[in-house]
Amino acid sequence: MTSVQDDTGVLAGDERMLIDGELQHTGSGASFDVVHPASEQIVGQAVDGTVDDMARAVGAARRAFDETDWSRDLDFRYHCLTQLHDAFERNKERLRRVLITEVGCPVTVSGSQIESPIEEVKHWADHGKHFEYLVDNGVHDTPLGPARRKIHYEAVGVVGAITPWNVPFYLNVAETVPALMAGNTVVLKPAQLTPWSGSEYGRIVAEETDIPPGVFNVVTSNANEVGAALSSDPRVDMITFTGSTATGRAILAAGAPTVKKTLLELGGKSAHIVLDDADFSSTLPLAAMMACVMSGQSCILPSRILLPRNRYDEGIEVLKTMMEGFPIGDPWTPGNMQGPQISETQRQKVLGLVNRAVEAGARLVTGGGVPEHLPVGYYTQPTLLADVDPDSEIAQEEVFGPVLAVIPYGTDDEAVAIANNSIYGLSGEVSGGDLDRAFAVATRMRTGNVTINGKSHFGIGSPFGGTKQSGLGYRNGDEGHKEYLAAKTIGMPE
Ligand code: ADP
Repeated sequence: MTSVQDDTGVLAGDERMLIDGELQHTGSGASFDVVHPASEQIVGQAVDGTVDDMARAVGAARRAFDETDWSRDLDFRYHCLTQLHDAFERNKERLRRVLITEVGCPVTVSGSQIESPIEEVKHWADHGKHFEYLVDNGVHDTPLGPARRKIHYEAVGVVGAITPWNVPFYLNVAETVPALMAGNTVVLKPAQLTPWSGSEYGRIVAEETDIPPGVFNVVTSNANEVGAALSSDPRVDMITFTGSTATGRAILAAGAPTVKKTLLELGGKSAHIVLDDADFSSTLPLAAMMACVMSGQSCILPSRILLPRNRYDEGIEVLKTMMEGFPIGDPWTPGNMQGPQISETQRQKVLGLVNRAVEAGARLVTGGGVPEHLPVGYYTQPTLLADVDPDSEIAQEEVFGPVLAVIPYGTDDEAVAIANNSIYGLSGEVSGGDLDRAFAVATRMRTGNVTINGKSHFGIGSPFGGTKQSGLGYRNGDEGHKEYLAAKTIGMPE
């Protein structure tokens, strides 16, 4: 297997979809272009699957769930997912090159998008193997005499997984592997901009594992209708989705007629409350770095920085210095930590938001345009906006770019109120010298998760989910596994 170091450059992924155990093209023969965001060049094609292809995939998943032992054979599932882990390991450098090709993710920071999810396959296999699927809930008094109750955890059924383009391989794994290990069958619909991270997963399943036909299917498509068809198909029991809040609402509505269980991880506009006793020299460079490493294309990014008025200028200076020196450039070159935005559309969206913020009265401290030394590729300068009005568009809308909006505040109460002034509630951050005070502030943030002093809340062993319009349900932790299980209580004689 070639490594990124000795064979740098784009790599076209396998373009075939996986439906009912067969790697295949769509019947219509249609395909769509895949563009490398660092060169702006078309580097290959993906299969443009149709609503009919999706219907076949869902039919295959339904049959595999209803007519095979997959949902009941835990040992076999453990065997298959262990094989999948090993196969991903063998294909690791290929998956990395596909990721860099599709997303423009810098090789230097690709570990969290390749090594981490591969490790998580092993985690879910082990977690699922040792989970107690039958729990004796004791004897309960009822008007008709005592009844013993047992809780039997069972697979939900057919799961439709719809994923976005920002961390495609990671999210393809995060949305499907716990579902499979819990005994569900799955149809994966990857995002339009990152089809190969999905089709390569399908190829690996088909060629290197014993996962039976129909248990795992991948349908790539350039049309939103194909995702919509998955989310409205009555044969699908559950949808798991990561993406924008607008699409999340559409998915909830599409599933409503058949009351689908829906797991949603949506947008965010997370706030970082920097308390006045914080160590700026450790916390603020990290905050600036987090805004840039994935070109800001991260849902949990704390993109609003709340600085205390009595240390405001000092804080802005630290952020500015870090952003102006940030290593941005070709994602294949080791050392670069910020690559391009994924597309020109995305870059224009980011720059449009920045321009409108300045028109609305924000102060542009640095950035706000295209780096002069990077005329090719969808690069965006790390951008710092100060004096941002907490009600303005830039403080309320998710940017998905390397942009920080700084908002001044006076008291801790005021900071909490500004942080909570959002339709989103995905995550948040607090920095402070007095840990009790920082913790107290963290508990008042209406978000699913909070990081204190850079110590990340995010990891496979702890539940992760959003409040308000940032989501429904949890990924990771025991909670994340149970999302893919139905708890059936069985009452029986003592
Ligand atoms: P973005 O707007 O940044 O592309 P989205 O949230 O729209 O992000 O997309 C995330 C995923 O949702 C993609 O796989 C996309 O194809 C899919 N998608 C988009 N619209 C719909 C829809 N109406 N129903 C189901 N899936 C959809």
